[in-house]
Amino acid sequence: MADDQKLTTREADFGAWYNELVLKAELADYSAVRGCMVIRPNGYGIWERSQRALDDMFKETGVENAYFPLFIPESYLKKEAEHVEGFAPETAVVTIGGGKTLEEPLVVRPTSETIIYSSFAKWVQSYRDLPLLVNQWCNVVRWEMRTRLFLRTMEFLWQEGHTAHATYDEAEAKTRQMLGIYRRYMEEWGAMPVITGRKTESEKFAGALRTYACEAMMQDNKALQANTSHNLGQNFSKAFGLSFQTEAGASEFAWSTSWGLSTRVIGGLVMTHGDDIGLRIPPRLAPTELVIVPIYRAEEQRAQVLSVASGIRAELAKSATPIRVRVDARENMTPGAKYYDWELRGVPLRLELGPRDLEKGQGVLVRRDTREKRPVPLGELARTAADLLVTIQRDMFESARARREAHSLRGPITYDRFRQVMDGEGGFVYAGWCGSDACESAIKDETKATIRVLPDPEFRSPEAPRTCMKCGKDATAEAMWAKAY
Ligand SMILES: [Zn+2]
Repeated sequence: MADDQKLTTREADFGAWYNELVLKAELADYSAVRGCMVIRPNGYGIWERSQRALDDMFKETGVENAYFPLFIPESYLKKEAEHVEGFAPETAVVTIGGGKTLEEPLVVRPTSETIIYSSFAKWVQSYRDLPLLVNQWCNVVRWEMRTRLFLRTMEFLWQEGHTAHATYDEAEAKTRQMLGIYRRYMEEWGAMPVITGRKTESEKFAGALRTYACEAMMQDNKALQANTSHNLGQNFSKAFGLSFQTEAGASEFAWSTSWGLSTRVIGGLVMTHGDDIGLRIPPRLAPTELVIVPIYRAEEQRAQVLSVASGIRAELAKSATPIRVRVDARENMTPGAKYYDWELRGVPLRLELGPRDLEKGQGVLVRRDTREKRPVPLGELARTAADLLVTIQRDMFESARARREAHSLRGPITYDRFRQVMDGEGGFVYAGWCGSDACESAIKDETKATIRVLPDPEFRSPEAPRTCMKCGKDATAEAMWAKAY
């Protein structure tokens, strides 16, 4: 850190900037266990806002919440071959309980497909029992060797949705529907524009038929996979005996899906919107949308300013568009120090309120995203602040999208040029791919860039690429490449 006050700049060292910001803005802290983190109230508040937004959208589609155990019998994980291969290297296994060696070791869930589909198998007999639509909010553990706050931790919080259906088409539609909900959350709450699409075979979830994802661009031009939605086909149903009697009386295995979003998204929020001063939290995810900083010199001014401030707080909380307001009444701290503190924490709007403002019946509103200041008559405050919050939310999204597009390359590109881009400033590159594992893995080895998604139609280039960027053979798809977190 340069000094106690300033953050390392993004340009000087993006990784150092990120870590300092997460710690100084009190989103999270390191813990006594390597690779595990403490999520502090500032970070947890963003997670709670996210949970509420997602949970409401899930429930609108008929999904209900449930809870499954933290421990999974080791034998369960072994029932789906690809799944165990994918997860075994990073599981934590309990072998001793109550001082005795367990007959069967218990895996601390890395994800819950196995335990959930074994329960579903007990609950489903007939097509009438389908679809089964369940979600759980929980923690999972993956034994990561290299960890970073929020982005990759051994234990993290997430939701995992699991559904079972009578037909392939229904399962595929559900997989896409959930991807759409994630996109809506990312863009409308997080102000993080995403590219949606399908993962290649090598990047899909272990045990899935196919995986879809939302990919966002961070300010260092790397991609962050923010969430995934999997069509599991009949793989887990076959492994766990999840079958049902069809309307015609035949027996068939159910078609299932799973989809998840984790606290990783908070890291994405920091890397999308943060600046060299601190966080910028999009209003819809901000636990506090507006902070009032009272300014006074004499004691009698203090009482007056604070009383007006708490009146404003109550009024804004009750207004047509309620606003989450906090009054910063901390003593022995200058207004300037408070401004600095709230800018670091990324609260979208600040209201400066001093005796001279009160004489004029006004306050001064300051936007965190642009730092633009404007005096506002107190009578118009509720409406002006509500409008401004909508504007800030939209402007943050638009500026992130403009930034992403400015660092996206489309159109014919030689492999040499691609390597230059990935060695240099990076970004999203859209180019042709022949569909072979050989080209995909050679590109990964040589440049560290991976196919993030085969983009959905709306994100594809107007003119489909004809040839594979690597081997020159006919392209079977347009792929979006980037280095990724
Ligand atoms: Zn090729």
